[in-house]
Amino acid sequence: MNSSPTNKELKLATSQELRIRNLERELKRAKKELQHVSITNKETNRSLRKVPVEIEEDIHRLNELFFSSSSLMAILVGEDFIVKMANDSLLKSLGRSKEIIGQAYLEAIPELEEQGFGEHLRKVYKTGIPYRATEFPVYIMKEGKSRLTYFDFVYQAHRNITGEINGVGIIATEVTTQAHLNKKIKESERKLRQLTDLIPDLITNSDKNGKAFYYNKSWLEFSGMSLEELLDIGWALIMHPDETDEFQRTLAHSLKSGEDFEMELRFKNSNGIYIWHLCRANAIFNDDNEIESWISTNTEIQRIKLEEKRKDDFLKMVSHELKTPITSIRGYVQMLISMVKMDEIVKNSPLPLESSLTRIDNQISRLIRLISEMLDLNRIDDSQLVLNKKTFSLNNLLEDTIQDVQISSPSTKINLEHNCECNVYADKDRIEQVIINFITNAIKYSPDDNRVDIKVYFSKANKASVSVRDYGIGIDKVDYKKIFKRFYRVSGKNEETYSGFGIGLFLAKDIIERHNGTVSVKSKKGKGSEFIFTLNAITD
Ligand code: ADP
Repeated sequence: MNSSPTNKELKLATSQELRIRNLERELKRAKKELQHVSITNKETNRSLRKVPVEIEEDIHRLNELFFSSSSLMAILVGEDFIVKMANDSLLKSLGRSKEIIGQAYLEAIPELEEQGFGEHLRKVYKTGIPYRATEFPVYIMKEGKSRLTYFDFVYQAHRNITGEINGVGIIATEVTTQAHLNKKIKESERKLRQLTDLIPDLITNSDKNGKAFYYNKSWLEFSGMSLEELLDIGWALIMHPDETDEFQRTLAHSLKSGEDFEMELRFKNSNGIYIWHLCRANAIFNDDNEIESWISTNTEIQRIKLEEKRKDDFLKMVSHELKTPITSIRGYVQMLISMVKMDEIVKNSPLPLESSLTRIDNQISRLIRLISEMLDLNRIDDSQLVLNKKTFSLNNLLEDTIQDVQISSPSTKINLEHNCECNVYADKDRIEQVIINFITNAIKYSPDDNRVDIKVYFSKANKASVSVRDYGIGIDKVDYKKIFKRFYRVSGKNEETYSGFGIGLFLAKDIIERHNGTVSVKSKKGKGSEFIFTLNAITD
């Protein structure tokens, strides 16, 4: 029998083989999937086992937070507001024990219902809108007594997983001490405002940029304006136009530096009349030493100003009247001195004629200087102080002036140090007047020392400075600016023993500033002073 397969049989075998292979492939894939499923199952089981532990830990953490918090917390459930949870801080603050847990909140603490808190709770429960209050006064029954306590608090609706409101949470902080403090602050602020309203001075409070946010009653009465108008327009608009420029300049400096502000200026009153005031402003600093605000007072000085004017007019008249006879006396004294010097008999006489006449001449020089200063004051006021400028050597002028001063103060050792050779274009007589004022002051205010050191030097390129240094009584820093004011003299038992009118430095500053120069002082009380003036130097 021929056993070789027929074509038909071969075809059948191949198709069966293909099917078997397909089945095998299917089986393999199914196995793989099964493996994957089993791995995932294992993982799922593992993670399922983990969930309860983590939830437990989270609950524990939340409980810790809730019960140990210093904030007052409670959870109320249902529309009867049953106390589900309440921490110790809340129980202590409300003067209640743990017994209220499980009770209706408003029944356990009935005083809250009486004060309207039930209404707020019900509204939150109904609407879901939180209710917040700050420094809210609440009367709480503690140890049989009703006590006023202040709280910051929030009532917040609680919702279940489906979003329905099922209770209200309370988070509060007791702020009784803070509230009492704030009350006291408000009270003292009210008293202060009342006080400032009683004071006749015009008082303003401004922010750190100088923008006023408070004017006292006297301001309203003086200006005839309402508070709103003053806040809107400000005081600068009722200031005399002659003073606005200086006011803006000085104010800008104070706002930037925090230094005290002081100026005399005029404000227009409700009748349209300008009245002189002394304006002072002080910065108020915060803990970081930054300017927080400004407080300013304006004191009326109209009468003082009128008195000053009368005094000035009187001085002007007296100075004029004295000048002619004194100049004539000086002429005769100088004539007598030269006659005495020439006459051998008088010269050899035991009478101290020459020395006495020289003394008289020195005193007359002092008197003439004083009269000239008085007249200069009036010239400044009447804008008649004219400068006769020419080019001269500052070094030579210093040498000559020192020589002249040395004659009347022979016991003082005046040293001159030339650190530069410089010419200036200025009014020689006026610069000499400044140098004399600096040197005579240095001698006058150094009763226990007889040294004066003078230096001429270039302080900057094209700037020549003259410094006059003494080792006398010195000046306090608070007086640095003031001593350059007209008629200002440092007061104190030390200073009162020195004669003077407080005009010299005022004139010196004015003269130097008219030359576009600057005047400054460095000093320490008891250690001496250094006065410096600086002028533009000619360099070629
Ligand atoms: P006067 O000396 O006539 O009073 P000044 O205008 O020259 O007027 O000086 C003003 C004030 O400045 C003086 O009264 C004095 O208190 C103070 N002063 C000026 N120079 C000195 C100095 N070298 N040392 C100490 N104080 C001085």
